[in-house]
Amino acid sequence: MTTIREAFETMAWGPAPESAAAAQAWLDKHSSVLGHFINGAWCAPADGARLATVNPANGVEIAQVAQGSAQDVDAAVAAARAAQPGWWALGGHVRARWLYALAREVQRNSRLFAVVESLDNGKPIRESRDIDIPLVARHFYHHAGWAQLMDTELPGYGPVGVVGQIIPWNFPLLMLAWKIAPALAMGNTVVMKPAEFTPLTALVFAECCANVGLPAGVVNVVTGDGKTGAALVDHADVDKIAFTGSTEVGRIIRVATAGSGKKLSLELGGKSPFLVFDDADLDSVVEGVVDAIWFNQGQVCCAGSRILAQESIAPRLVEKIRARMETLRIGDPLDKAVDIGAIIAPVQLEKIRGLVQQGIAEGATCWQPSWSVPKEGYFFPPTLFTDVTPTATVAQVEIFGPVVVLMTFRTPAEAVELANNTRYGLAASVWSENLNTALDIAPQLKAGTVWVNCTNMFDAASGFGGYRESGFGREGGKEGLWEYVRSVRPAAREASAGVRVAPATGTPAAAPQLAEASAARAAASAPSIDRTPKLYIGGKQVRPDSGYSLPVLDAAGTRVAEVGHGNRKDIRNAVEAAHKAAEGWTKATAHARAQIIYYLAENLAVRESEFAARLCALCACAPGFAEREVRTSVQRAFSYAAWADKYDGRVHATPYRNVTLAMNEPIGVLGLVAPTEAPLLGFLSLVLPSVAMGNTVVAVPSERWPLLATDLYQVLDTSDVPGGVINIVTGPRKDLAPVLAAHDDVDGIWFYGPRVEAAAVEKLSAGNMKRTHVAWDAVDWLDPHHGEGEEFLREATQVKNIWVPYGA
Ligand code: ADP
Repeated sequence: MTTIREAFETMAWGPAPESAAAAQAWLDKHSSVLGHFINGAWCAPADGARLATVNPANGVEIAQVAQGSAQDVDAAVAAARAAQPGWWALGGHVRARWLYALAREVQRNSRLFAVVESLDNGKPIRESRDIDIPLVARHFYHHAGWAQLMDTELPGYGPVGVVGQIIPWNFPLLMLAWKIAPALAMGNTVVMKPAEFTPLTALVFAECCANVGLPAGVVNVVTGDGKTGAALVDHADVDKIAFTGSTEVGRIIRVATAGSGKKLSLELGGKSPFLVFDDADLDSVVEGVVDAIWFNQGQVCCAGSRILAQESIAPRLVEKIRARMETLRIGDPLDKAVDIGAIIAPVQLEKIRGLVQQGIAEGATCWQPSWSVPKEGYFFPPTLFTDVTPTATVAQVEIFGPVVVLMTFRTPAEAVELANNTRYGLAASVWSENLNTALDIAPQLKAGTVWVNCTNMFDAASGFGGYRESGFGREGGKEGLWEYVRSVRPAAREASAGVRVAPATGTPAAAPQLAEASAARAAASAPSIDRTPKLYIGGKQVRPDSGYSLPVLDAAGTRVAEVGHGNRKDIRNAVEAAHKAAEGWTKATAHARAQIIYYLAENLAVRESEFAARLCALCACAPGFAEREVRTSVQRAFSYAAWADKYDGRVHATPYRNVTLAMNEPIGVLGLVAPTEAPLLGFLSLVLPSVAMGNTVVAVPSERWPLLATDLYQVLDTSDVPGGVINIVTGPRKDLAPVLAAHDDVDGIWFYGPRVEAAAVEKLSAGNMKRTHVAWDAVDWLDPHHGEGEEFLREATQVKNIWVPYGA
């Protein structure tokens, strides 16, 4: 028995266990055997297969759940499909009320949710109770608001349809909320597949849906392992897949959905940097480190697992962190005084152990507190590595455990370089008492979220998601809604009034309706063609590597010119040039970019008749049509010059003492494969929004009519477009698009062409998880609602959320 005096002297905490009674009662009600939740009712797995879910704190089985088969997935998708039109037809206000009801029901059951979550996942009850569950309720409330506002805030958009959602085990209920709330708000219905280690809170949530009387089929939950997930991904009647999990599985899903037309968002792994400048408040930093890497045992995709400390303060910081580690408490997740709970499963524990051993073998210094971890269950002590080289395995590989590495830097530039030295880009923290430093560094970090003097802050009003191999798409905030909507504007008009539209097969349109074009007029006004345009790389016209050229035929089939036959090497050179130009172009002010695009428009306007004549000669357009295409091209350049400094970000109203700045940032180097049709306007409709937003591009023009792009070389030269910002490689689309799609230094690719080729592009993009935007349906480029606008700007940008706390 401890005396009060002893307690004061040691300041030791006694155990403060949360009762598991509510969870036990829920399990007893189901006899600890749970089925799927399909069409508003529980149902047993069709083939009777089951899997056990285990408490990681003691290794004891908690319940048996269904192992979903393709047949179960099929039933769930059918239920979601049947329910979707009715759910959408309810309208935003009624859906808002359902989401509100779900939020209330989550709050009513918050204790049950928190306890079940901690039992199933092993996370400290303090976290499930105070962070996960309140954020879940907040997500439903916030998205009830978006349902209400959908008509006015997203005019012209409707639901995607049936959404398959696959989530991991680290935040089982929170990830469910991040996915279900926006999907439902936007009028979709869902089939949710929780992780095999942590299916229980999803099933409690399913029961909540039934309790509030949510229409059957709107939310379906199918449990099971990766095979169940794969069946959902492969299901032909699913319109979108939203996935959170490992980059490895994300890559499999990217490949599996390629060419399917399914919308896809992926939130994947990370190795997030945690930058500490010499003017940071080190005591706050230490608490930040605790939150960054020991929150949820470090099993957090955005865990700050790489501390980068300025050299002068590093020794002091290491000392302070070690002292703090010594005071962390590990143990029973249901103990309210515990900081660190259990690791999810033996397989994860082994992975962490293996990587720590490797870190030691590679020469880093490993430090762990003096106390030992519980013998029962799956526990791992907090671990700090110092003397780590940037290339060490522990500095590069996502450990997904309570293990952090510490490296040093001297200058801010070096800090940025080290921070970005990873294939991931999920999050970063910057610690400095100097706001100038912090806000100078934040935009330079390649990460979807940057926390200034804080870490692991989440809210429904702020988007969360990755750059680079951390995936694409955002969850939360207005930016997250785009993942769950599609434009409902009428499809492009079929070729009419001289609009050249390539058929879906990708065969260049013969445009029979244009055959009556005035050949005589075309011939008379056509410029004489006596040159072989080369490629345009780094602001210079360069000979193609192959030394070969390709014939260009006019409408009558006469060879009128030759263009360079670009190959793999030319694409590589162009990508290199685009990278070189990127730094300057990204840093240029939006105003400066706008000026250059206006200048381009002006120079194009001067040569309107020449371009129109070229179009006429090559494509045999109907009278007046070529002029319209060129005039629209000039107008489009004006539009994107106008947008350059107007596609603003937002300031999100997150409920903390901070501002959350949602900034639209360029993606980087974009590969653009232009449509066959509309060889000038289609080409510019891809290039202009890309460069207006600060990307640099490697563009492959219309294979059949490349001269309209090569004629632009002089326009670009005379418009002050810096060399390397727009690179143009002519040649066969079939050869060039795959090279761009597979190139690891290309950050995104847009492809307009036939579906089979689009599928290959999406598949090849999985290498570095580049963003893809593919279209095989006809686009009416002349129509400003189809060929221009915010959809293109969204494709050309990614949102970074910078959290800046305040407090005097
Ligand atoms: P983690 O590393 O977080 O366990 P995983 O990517 O392995 O992440 O798992 C995340 C989710 O993806 C889980 O629900 C898992 O069942 C599911 N999953 C695993 N493999 C596949 C697959 N091939 N297709 C679809 N889902 C999968």
